[in-house]
Amino acid sequence: MPTLLQQPLRLLIDGQWVGCASGASMDVINPSTGEVLAQEALGGAAEIDQAVQAARRALEAGPWARMRPAERTRLLLKLADALEQHGDELALLETLNTGKPLKVARMFDVGHAAECLRYNAGWATKLNGETRAVSLPGDWHAYTLREPVGVVGLIVPWNVPLAMAVSKIAPALAAGCTVVLKPAELTPLTALRLGELMVAVGFPPGVVNIVTGLGTEAGQALVAHPGVDKVSFTGSTAVGKAILASAAGNLKRVALELGGKSPVFIFPDADLDRAIDAAARGIFSNTGQVCAAGSRLFVHRSVAERVVEGVAQRARQLRVAPGLVADAEIGPVISARQRERVMAYVASGRAEGAEVVAGGEALDGAGYFIQPTVLVNTTPAMRVVREEIFGPVLCVQQFDDDSLEQLAARGNDTDFGLSSSIWTRDLRTAHQMVRRLKAGNVRVNAAAALDFAMPFGGYKQSGWGRENGREGVEAYTELKSVAIDLN
Ligand code: NDP
Repeated sequence: MPTLLQQPLRLLIDGQWVGCASGASMDVINPSTGEVLAQEALGGAAEIDQAVQAARRALEAGPWARMRPAERTRLLLKLADALEQHGDELALLETLNTGKPLKVARMFDVGHAAECLRYNAGWATKLNGETRAVSLPGDWHAYTLREPVGVVGLIVPWNVPLAMAVSKIAPALAAGCTVVLKPAELTPLTALRLGELMVAVGFPPGVVNIVTGLGTEAGQALVAHPGVDKVSFTGSTAVGKAILASAAGNLKRVALELGGKSPVFIFPDADLDRAIDAAARGIFSNTGQVCAAGSRLFVHRSVAERVVEGVAQRARQLRVAPGLVADAEIGPVISARQRERVMAYVASGRAEGAEVVAGGEALDGAGYFIQPTVLVNTTPAMRVVREEIFGPVLCVQQFDDDSLEQLAARGNDTDFGLSSSIWTRDLRTAHQMVRRLKAGNVRVNAAAALDFAMPFGGYKQSGWGRENGREGVEAYTELKSVAIDLN
């Protein structure tokens, strides 16, 4: 049993592990079994205020403010090594708390987090301004500076808790900011273990503070706090909109990574075996709880039977089981509430005329398991097609003589614009679709894999701003213009 679970869970504020003043707590549940894993401290406005003040001191007066960028790089690299050294333990915590297969947690969640730290570590020494040629040579010395935006509030969801926390912490620290992290109330475990490792590798007090608690209390207090310069949020579009309103008080900067309803297009000339495999992985991985999940499949009528049967067969074959079972491929959804929500969508799809060709049922037992589900005969007006389900449910539509313009318009007929995939061997089709799709991320003959060099984010109601790449780390900076009159 990981040592984290052998003690009461606490908050990390100013380098100290502390309880919360109210003494409030809630159960942390294993979604594979419904069993209680630990008691989580529910921090509130008081703890958020202490954390923000600690982050401010570390930013302006503490050692962080005087640290050279290369030292920030070194610390981030040390943390990446620590994550790998403790990879089995972190993966176990993630599997216990989310239900996802242990090997996925080890390879993807932990591996991804370590890689993200290494990628961003390099940026600490490369965030340069530039000189600008203004007026006559010799009259002015004009240049730009990149400076840390300040104290940043980070709010993350429960679907990939460790990787999501690191994907915000790493660029924020590389840029020289200090942070207050609010993990999702359902999944605090790996964030807290990450905090322990950060203290152990030598991050100074106050640079990273972790306040577990409810979104409507700790989360809201963080977003509204006047001492916070920026909020970076990943989660639902509805909460993203609420955050915008709460952040208005001091006009803090806001970055939003929100939901998606991403289209996948399979043309008849595609490598169908690969396309079928990727379409299945794209919606069923992480039990469909992925913002970029390919949840709307558009398939050409001439290959629809083969593609639908191929994806449905994979859906039936996937081993749905607790993440600690050796050959588990699909874990539970995160909570009983999420299972109800997903099953209500499947019921609404059926009621509106969709046909279930695979899955469609919740599994009996204590855990929150749902069969991977494929719905055909779906139409653009159905709720299952319009709304983000965040579960293992694929909605299939067919096309035949649509022009590329019409087809792209069908793909774009959504409030979201996060991701999309195009499967074709025809260059013209691929390029023309790429240009027409209103999505922040487009993949051709590939599923929506992440690479830290590539900016990730959404058009439309899928968000504001980009994570990853130069853009992702520059998002944690302010740009200062300096002009010196040399006359
Ligand atoms: P939320 O958007 O409700 O939560 C995400 C994070 O925001 C959590 O840490 C949450 O805290 C916090 N939060 C909630 N309300 C507030 C608030 N008013 N102010 C500040 N922070 C707040 O997502 P859920 O976890 O409830 O999931 C609901 C749906 O959101 C999913 O079914 C899915 O559609 C979508 N979603 C999208 C994700 C994505 O990656 N795009 C990820 C997760 C969810 P707390 O945990 O206490 O609620």
